[in-house]
Amino acid sequence: MSTEPASAARLKLWGVRGSIPVPGPATVRYGGNTSCVEVRADGEIIVLDAGSGIRLLGIALEQEFGSRPINLTLLITHAHWDHIQGLPFFLPSYNDKNKVRIFGYNGADTGLREILKGQMATPFFPVKLYDLPSKIDIKKLDTMEFNVGKVQVRAKPMNHPGICVGYRLFTSSGSVAYLPDTEPYDAFKLHSSKSHLLSPEQTRKRAEKERAALVEFLHETDVLLLDTQYTDEEYQEHVGWGHGSLSSAVRLALDAQVRKLLLFHHDPNHSDTTIDAMVENARKIIANGGQRLEVEAAREGAEFALN
Ligand SMILES: [Zn+2]
Ligand SMILES: [Zn+2]
Repeated sequence: MSTEPASAARLKLWGVRGSIPVPGPATVRYGGNTSCVEVRADGEIIVLDAGSGIRLLGIALEQEFGSRPINLTLLITHAHWDHIQGLPFFLPSYNDKNKVRIFGYNGADTGLREILKGQMATPFFPVKLYDLPSKIDIKKLDTMEFNVGKVQVRAKPMNHPGICVGYRLFTSSGSVAYLPDTEPYDAFKLHSSKSHLLSPEQTRKRAEKERAALVEFLHETDVLLLDTQYTDEEYQEHVGWGHGSLSSAVRLALDAQVRKLLLFHHDPNHSDTTIDAMVENARKIIANGGQRLEVEAAREGAEFALN
């Protein structure tokens, strides 16, 4: 064990919204940008997803580093638009002093590189991905465990249409789990190409098994950013859409003995007051069960230390 205290890992939220950016007076407190989270740990800059929030992160990084090179790793959960749409506007990509490593898995039918190139191809964008001056290295992951420097990363497929993973980062001062898009398994709705072949009993058993594996994946996470796109009432109208509900998210975090839960991937139709009410409800569920779990809603610009 090192005698030198490592500086605490920290995370900053640059985009917390799901589906589409929603600026305006109703979202001014929690923010309207789509998914992007920055983790600084063990000398690494790790960015989780490239939603529209990554534009602001890029500006902040260029201001911080000035003429010094920026070397960062971007982990993509999946290629739905709200998780990649900010990449063409990421300022560090436009400067040849910088190195941007992008890791992720292939989309349903297309490779990661083709997907990211595709959204910048003519006629969608005036600059092609590989015309950007920075050193961009896109790597398709073929393993569920890997390292970014000294940070150990584990990935896990999520219950979401197409190919989508969640990441857990183990740093020297605690762990962060980032699961922006996933539907509860207890709805018995499995997003798998073969799920229609299962009997109701097989489906129930499979859902139980998948949920238990997810609880294990998240066990004793320090900070969990989890899909809570819907209230419980809204979820009933959106079963099968691939997103989470408030009480299922709280139950999952409790079962996994998570320390802090951040409600994440807010629905574009949710105002700040709706999100406030969801936080209150989450705290009631926890208090009623006599359990302990810190919970708050992810807010654009918020920063957390991991120790
Ligand atoms: Zn999403
Ligand atoms: Zn998605």
